[in-house]
Amino acid sequence: MSAKILDGKAIAAELRDSIQQEVEKQVALGKKPPGLAVIMVGEDPASQVYVRNKKIACQKAGFKDVSVVLPAETSQEEVLALIDKLNADDEVHGIIVQLPVPDHIDPEEIIERIHPCKDVDGFHPYNVGRLATRMPQLAPCTPHGVMTMLAKTGIPLRGLNAVVVGASNIVGVPMMLELLNERATVTVCHSATKDLAQKVSEADLVVVGVGIPNMVKGEWIKEGAIVIDVGINRMDDGTLCGDVEYDTAAQRASWITPVPGGVGPMTIATLLENTMQVAYHLDCKVK
Ligand code: NDP
Repeated sequence: MSAKILDGKAIAAELRDSIQQEVEKQVALGKKPPGLAVIMVGEDPASQVYVRNKKIACQKAGFKDVSVVLPAETSQEEVLALIDKLNADDEVHGIIVQLPVPDHIDPEEIIERIHPCKDVDGFHPYNVGRLATRMPQLAPCTPHGVMTMLAKTGIPLRGLNAVVVGASNIVGVPMMLELLNERATVTVCHSATKDLAQKVSEADLVVVGVGIPNMVKGEWIKEGAIVIDVGINRMDDGTLCGDVEYDTAAQRASWITPVPGGVGPMTIATLLENTMQVAYHLDCKVK
């Protein structure tokens, strides 16, 4: 078997176009454009690339970009004060803090300070709790983007054996919840999992987000499985590579995401989607 490509780049472009059209429509009706505040503390090089890409996507979709870059030595209190200000600003619909933050900043306190109705990364415990109780409101962008990509491609999930490799708050855990909510049967693997190869080989759907290049071997993949590679690893030669051994996995899978051009573009498009939801459609009850 030779896998078909799950074309995240094309699906994300379509999603961004539809968001742009919705924004044009709402602005023509007199509404404000969605405002997104991306807060970056310090100058982590990978974060700079992500923040720049988010800024470009924001501007193209007709959003108001209110990104703030703070020096690395900014204190916890100063970041919290900025979040309070943005929480109170009715031109700002979404607030995210680009991770990782410098060591002296506590990311959990920062995340909890963002108002749950502006938490467009979906990391606030309120939004994680809603996802876990099948009342999703703002869901984490990467796993939700994966769900959109699967839905738009017409891949049904009900009853599939799904294996998620990686159990972070950003990728693995919300991915587990999203798949469970669609009634897949989900196994979550992490650094203490025994016999990962065996677990992966039983999966109809594998989602990998670990951060180790090529760690999931092509030979582990079940014939006809769907393979979603969330990993983004920059190699010494500057190229990007996923967590799945692509060439061999593609010979066995029915569908596979490339890296780059798979999950990555869906993440940014979903961030815009969440922000647009807050601006125009979300009936968020939290005071
Ligand atoms: P984290 O480092 O936060 O989490 C990694 C996870 O992998 C942990 O749950 C860890 O287990 C698990 N893990 C580590 N080693 C193994 C192993 N040998 N076997 C099984 N599981 C293991 O990373 P993130 O979740 O933030 O990111 C993961 C990858 O996804 C990275 O490459 C990142 O760049 C990429 N990414 C891509 C995005 C996109 O838009 N495409 C967005 C976000 C991330 P444990 O919990 O036990 O420590």
